[in-house]
Amino acid sequence: MQRPIYLDYQATTPMDERVLAAMMPYFTQFFGNSSSQHLYGWEADSAIKQARSAIAESINGTAEEIIFTSGATEANNLAIKGVAEAYFHRGKHLITVQTEHRAVLDPCRYLESLGFEVTYLGVDSEGLINLTQLEESIRPDTILISVMAANNEIGVLQPLAAIGEICHRHQVLFHTDAAQAIAKIPLDVEKMQIDLMSFTAHKIYGPKGIGALYIRKRHPRVAITPQMQGGGQEQGLRAGTLYTPQIVGFAKAISLGLAELEQEGQRQQVLRDKLWNAINTLDGIYLNGHFRDRLPGNLNISIEGVKGTSLLLALQPLIALSSGSACSASSANPSHVLTALGHSKNLAQASLRLGLGRFTTSEEVDRAAEQIIKTIQSLR
Ligand SMILES: *Cc1c(COP(=O)(O)O)cnc(C)c1O
Repeated sequence: MQRPIYLDYQATTPMDERVLAAMMPYFTQFFGNSSSQHLYGWEADSAIKQARSAIAESINGTAEEIIFTSGATEANNLAIKGVAEAYFHRGKHLITVQTEHRAVLDPCRYLESLGFEVTYLGVDSEGLINLTQLEESIRPDTILISVMAANNEIGVLQPLAAIGEICHRHQVLFHTDAAQAIAKIPLDVEKMQIDLMSFTAHKIYGPKGIGALYIRKRHPRVAITPQMQGGGQEQGLRAGTLYTPQIVGFAKAISLGLAELEQEGQRQQVLRDKLWNAINTLDGIYLNGHFRDRLPGNLNISIEGVKGTSLLLALQPLIALSSGSACSASSANPSHVLTALGHSKNLAQASLRLGLGRFTTSEEVDRAAEQIIKTIQSLR
């Protein structure tokens, strides 16, 4: 039996063989604890140092500003709760966006239960925030603004540099969840005036279970309260033995992504547009998210005249994709991102997120388009 075509690259990606090769020696040969004071420890420590510098350099930060975490969920929690705890004497107001990942929304909701206040900005019909509205939402007691770089469902890219400028003019810290953006679009913490930025490796052909939080050290020096205490690793901000192979793989994944960023982005965009043009020959197909300000490999469509659950069920054996995000795939509720665009519940439910990636071929796109079209026609 043929396996379904994988078009769910926003949920996770296969690891690149080159990443795996870079990681292998650190499982068996160079297995030391990077905190140990002997050759084994030094070997691990040196590999981690190199990876940390490479990751920092890729975003124009410095090595001391990178704190390794288990992924973007943990990085978001550390950023949001860590800043809230460290700055609560200054203010108890945070600003974020309705279309954020749950790894941002849920920590915000948790802070609300502790007495913080959170403004959840809406988006326009294409998924972009309104900068005037953002600026008007800032209060004297606002301590943090969290706006994602690239949306995991509709791929929309928020204007980071403009947001960073507003945040710094009002002396409010700026956090961005860049899980979907790192090594896919250029990111520069200086140019974009980013104070905290979350990453993960498994969305960019790296291993699962590793990510990082960038925390600015100068202009301003960001304070953060650790959420994990223990052996004092990562400057006391995130205790736990560092996971050398994953860290080496993470850095390799970023460097591969950056080396191929432009060329691969163009290739994916051509395939994505081909997929869209093919499906859009049918009536009643709507593109979700901005047409151009989006990840090159992301397509998200709503389909009129079909039931969402039937569509997904029919496509399941043919194409591996999802409706909303992977995390909410098991829930019957429509995606909070699509409802924020103003979609009705029915239309939001009849939606497909098609994520193309490094290993997607032109032939797969043709086959997927054909199968999606056939399925929609038969369900209608
Ligand atoms: C995948 C993803 C996360 C969660 O990352 P993990 O490393 O799986 O914890 C957070 N935010 C966004 C935007 C994502 O796409």
